[in-house]
This record gives sequence, structure tokens and C-alpha cells, in this order.
Amino acid sequence: MKRHSWAEPFKIKMVELLKMTTPNERKKVIKEAGYNTFLLKSEDVYIDLLTDSGTSAMSDRQWAGMMTGDEAYAGSTNYYHLEDAVKKYYGYKYLVPTHQGRGAEHLISQILIKKGDIIPGNMYFTTTRLHQELAGATFVDIIIDEAHDAENEFPFKGNIDINKLEALIKKYGAKKIPYVCVATTVNMAGGQPISMENLKAVRALTLKHGIKIIHDMTRVAENAWFIKHREKGYAKKSVASIVKEICSLTDGGTMSAKKDAMVNIGGFLAINDWDVFEEARNMVVIYEGLHTYGGLAGRDMEAMAIGIAESVNDNHMDARIGQVLYLGDKIKEIGIPIVQPTGSHGVFLDASKILSQLSQDEFPAQTLAAELYLESGIRSMERGVVSAGRNIKTGKNHYPKLELVRLTIPRRVYTQAHMDVVAESVAAVYDRRKK
Ligand SMILES: *Cc1c(COP(=O)(O)O)cnc(C)c1O
Repeated sequence: MKRHSWAEPFKIKMVELLKMTTPNERKKVIKEAGYNTFLLKSEDVYIDLLTDSGTSAMSDRQWAGMMTGDEAYAGSTNYYHLEDAVKKYYGYKYLVPTHQGRGAEHLISQILIKKGDIIPGNMYFTTTRLHQELAGATFVDIIIDEAHDAENEFPFKGNIDINKLEALIKKYGAKKIPYVCVATTVNMAGGQPISMENLKAVRALTLKHGIKIIHDMTRVAENAWFIKHREKGYAKKSVASIVKEICSLTDGGTMSAKKDAMVNIGGFLAINDWDVFEEARNMVVIYEGLHTYGGLAGRDMEAMAIGIAESVNDNHMDARIGQVLYLGDKIKEIGIPIVQPTGSHGVFLDASKILSQLSQDEFPAQTLAAELYLESGIRSMERGVVSAGRNIKTGKNHYPKLELVRLTIPRRVYTQAHMDVVAESVAAVYDRRKK
């Protein structure tokens, strides 16, 4: 039987009640928050699309796993379950758990980077780049130009520009480039995937020069789904097998399990090199906790191990990305400019086009996010000049090419009716954009 629509491969057995607010209440609280959606209180939010990080719904199995937490200081059973899951589903040899993704970014940056190094990557992520900079490196964006063009419909806008990478190696020499940071999918580009073909080319070039690949694997299963549906030769493969193939082309990864793996807290560093692992598990003791818990409770590691297995399930991923694409199509049909094509974890509104009367110093995306909250209590996230931060030396604003509002969809949390309300609210704000 051919299924004509995506639908959730689960049913709901517990709900969280939401407070409904009036326009006057929203006006008051967004003003108190300085028109910054990060400063709103969660209880004043109706549909929370700030982030998909740590906000997904755990399954009954994950919650059951929480009850089997082995809270021993050293050698927790749950650590070994997590290690098994990382080996089985990602194929990396050694595991160091951390409290979340940035804990792992800190470890790997401090271990592999020397002052004056260059770290190329397919667009930056806020904490990832900052950890590289704090370790003394300069981050260089080598993503393909298509990624900076919101309208371009190229199916793999997360790809690395091989010419840019080659030019960097020529300019600085391979010794100055300890690793290339490859993200699956690229969050700041709109959740855009990298193709297997491109990753293989990056692997071939880095092997030639003895440069490592460190994988920002936060949404690797979502990236794998796009490869399955868009890249020749992958239609019949499972998301799980594609995830493993991606990881096999890299030397290690930093994971925020709060995304793909659907836990409220947790992450890890996974690495194939024994010496790097040795250093990481010595260092984790200082910053996170002993190497068999890394700042997590045993129960958190158990929920993560179970969540990893659920995240690579094809039916799960069909519904997860199906819901995001549903919202993207709805907003696009109204004629509102969004980043094309819709990415894996959210719909990105093109604020510079919607509020074209505002200069970047007037924070168009921040303004749009505040308006959307006023309209119906939907919380979104600015991804533009504010997120890009300032030059560490001059204190001047960075001006990213993309000025976006991200409507990020938590996994297994909201219904199709919620998505309809979101599209209608965006349309209402769009209608009064000139005001
Ligand atoms: C969330 C995220 C991180 C950081 O992970 P945390 O768990 O938030 O510390 C790194 N890279 C990407 C692409 C992310 O989305």
C-alpha cells in the first residue's frame, strides 16, 4: 500500500498543558524581555520554536531507561551501553561523554589546535567557532557559495568548496591545519545537508595532506535522510547505514545529543585515534567529570543510548523531516521568502527580504522574531547579525550574508495543527510588514 502522507510513527500518552496569553500580556512581556526572544519566560510561550536542542519528546523506552540509571561514580553500566551505541550506530572507536556538544568542542579544540592554526569548516556554528578561537585558531568558512544565497535551490548546500580548501592548504600549508570541521547538517545555512560525494572528495584531499576531519555530528541522521532522498545510489539504503558511512569518512566527532538523539541533556566526543582519546579522557576529568560520566548522570547516558537507536530509524526520520517540510511548503505557498530548499530542523524566514526597509544594524531578524511572538505567542530565534557576534579584536559587528529567523521544530512534540497555526501567524506578520 502506498502511503500518501507522512505521519508520526507513535501515539501520544502524556501531554503538557500550555498557557494561552492575550495580545496585551504578550506586549508587556516581550517589552520586558528587551524584544529578545531568549529572555522570554517559557511559560509565556505558546508554541516554542526557539530551538530543537534538548526540547524533543523522549519515548517511553527512553523514560524507562532513565529508571535504570547506574549512578556509580566510575564505570557506570549506562556508560558501557552508550559506548556500545556509539560503536554500533556511528562506528567510532572511543567515547568520552560530555554534558552537551560544546563540552566536546572544548576538549577537541584544546587538544588538536595550536596557536596560529587555521580551522576550515562548512560554515561556522557559534560555540564551535568560539572554542576554536579560544584555542588560538582562526576559523575559515569554506562552504560552497550557494549556501550564502537563500534562494538557491541546490540540494546539498552544506557542501564544502574543494577549491577553497585546496587554496587554504596551499596558502598556509597542511601543518597549520590540524583538521577540517565538517558539520552534518549545516545549522547556520538553514539545516542544509552535505552530500556523500562531497564528503568523499574532502576525505581524499585531507588524507593526501595528513589533515584530520572532525565531524560536527549533531544532526547526522537528518543529513543521512537527505542523502537517501536526493543522492544517486542511496534510495534503497537505510538512514542507519548512511549514518555509518558518513562517520567512516571522518576521524571523530563532537555530538550534541540534544538534537538527533532526543535527550534533554547530553553529548560526547567520539574519536578513532587512541592518543587523542587518552588526552581527552584526562582532560574531561577537569572540566566535566570522570571519563565514564563526563558531567552526566547515568540515567542521562542510558536515555542517550536509546535515543541514538531511535534517531536512525527510517520511519522516525520520515515523520521528523516530513513535518518540517510540511511547514516549509505551507509558508512558501503563501509567497513568503524562506531559505530554499527547506532544511532538516526548521524553516528559516528571510528577514532581510521580509523587512527590507531595515538595515542590518537595525536587526531585521530580531525585529521579525519579536513581531511573531506578539502575533500569537510563537517563539523563534534570530540567526543574523546578533547571532554572528562581534570581531574579537575590533569589537565591530560581524555582518553575515544571511539575516534569518529560525522556526525550529522540536522532535515528536508539536502536531500538524500547531504547524498550521505557525504558518497562519507568519502570514499575518507578513501582511503587516510595511508597518
Ligand atoms: C547545538 C549545536 C552545537 C553545540 O551543542 P550543544 O549541545 O548546544 O552544546 C554544535 N554544533 C551544532 C551544529 C549545533 O547545532
